[in-house]
Amino acid sequence: MDYDRIFSDAIANIKDEGRYRVFMDIERKNGDFPKATWHSEKGEKDITVWCSNDYLGMGQHPDVIKAMKDAIDKVGTGSGGTRNISGTHHYHVMLENELADLHGKEAGLLFTSGYISNETSISTIARMLPGCIIYSDELNHSSMINGVLHGKCEKRIFKHNCVEHLEELIKADDPAAPKIILFESVYSMDGDFAPIEEFCDLADKYNCMTYMDEVHAVGMYGPRGGGVAEERGLMDRVDIIEGTLGKAYGLMGGYITATRDIVDSVRSFAPGFIFTTSLSPAITAGALASVRHLKKSTAERERHQERAATLKQMMRDANLPVMPSLSHIVPLLVGDPIICKQASDMLLEEYGIYVQPINFPTVPRGTERLRFAPNPLHDDAMMDHLVQSLKKVWQKLDIDKYSSAA
Ligand SMILES: *Cc1c(COP(=O)(O)O)cnc(C)c1O
Repeated sequence: MDYDRIFSDAIANIKDEGRYRVFMDIERKNGDFPKATWHSEKGEKDITVWCSNDYLGMGQHPDVIKAMKDAIDKVGTGSGGTRNISGTHHYHVMLENELADLHGKEAGLLFTSGYISNETSISTIARMLPGCIIYSDELNHSSMINGVLHGKCEKRIFKHNCVEHLEELIKADDPAAPKIILFESVYSMDGDFAPIEEFCDLADKYNCMTYMDEVHAVGMYGPRGGGVAEERGLMDRVDIIEGTLGKAYGLMGGYITATRDIVDSVRSFAPGFIFTTSLSPAITAGALASVRHLKKSTAERERHQERAATLKQMMRDANLPVMPSLSHIVPLLVGDPIICKQASDMLLEEYGIYVQPINFPTVPRGTERLRFAPNPLHDDAMMDHLVQSLKKVWQKLDIDKYSSAA
């Protein structure tokens, strides 16, 4: 057995397909977001980041930074343990209460990432329901797919956001079997919203539980940042709401909120919660400040929506192929993986614009795209520079040829 060969062949394959990932070595500038320094092979270069999930710039908010510094001064760096063995700090308890309140639920539970929160909560809940069937949207995030896999239960995949297909699948199954409908509120690659109310109606009709990932909506939608369900007045209809502290809240970590008994069950049985060191108190304190700030302040949300709408309009005016997105996500269709990467490289090297190419398997082949995430700190001049640069890149690479064929 030639072990080395197996690994080198695997890498050669993804390189041939244009799918090999090269990480950008950047340094964000506190106080000057979304500007950053790129450590390129040719030296340092100033760039503007257009693909950060720090959607509202909370990663440099003075209240958040102060909360983290204060926490370090007060209690030190790490948590020093799992939640059960000396790793539950007062910050964790306060943040869990704050998140439960944010979503109008009885209880909340923190995890070290949104990925872990989905993977371990979904699999644990599924294992607690003998004979459980999970109905999962075909575009659900990898963390949810792996949760279903590790739940070792029956699964049905329904067409993206399709209420009719979901109902068809549910109707075909044993009415007595426990069922969970699994979906996201905002799908971050296309920027479309789930029909939350219709899914909840089906759940009522067929006695299913609902589990919703609000990762790309918490902090950004709803009067207090409670997500799309808050905006639509539906929080009490979704059984389990999951979110992240790593995107709009600008830190890291994930969570679920639900009834006391569901949260207590995940707390008691989920290996990904139990057997790992808890979030550092400083991160938790920063997240607490961020969640609290965005509960009160609507300025970031309003400006964020305005910036996204403005950028989409500017791109449409420039005849750039913006994909239909009702949310803050601005996807621009390219339609070819190699050209998509070339466009991204050209934007970076010639125009100081950093946007990551999005290729298969993150999106279907033929729909390769550049995905822009405008935030409240992208000003008019930056947007103008972006659109002018895109027009030049589109022309140089003749991208219309690919995007119109897609
Ligand atoms: C990013 C993401 C996650 C994972 O959250 P992290 O906190 O980054 O681990 C979960 N669900 C969706 C839909 C995501 O996009």
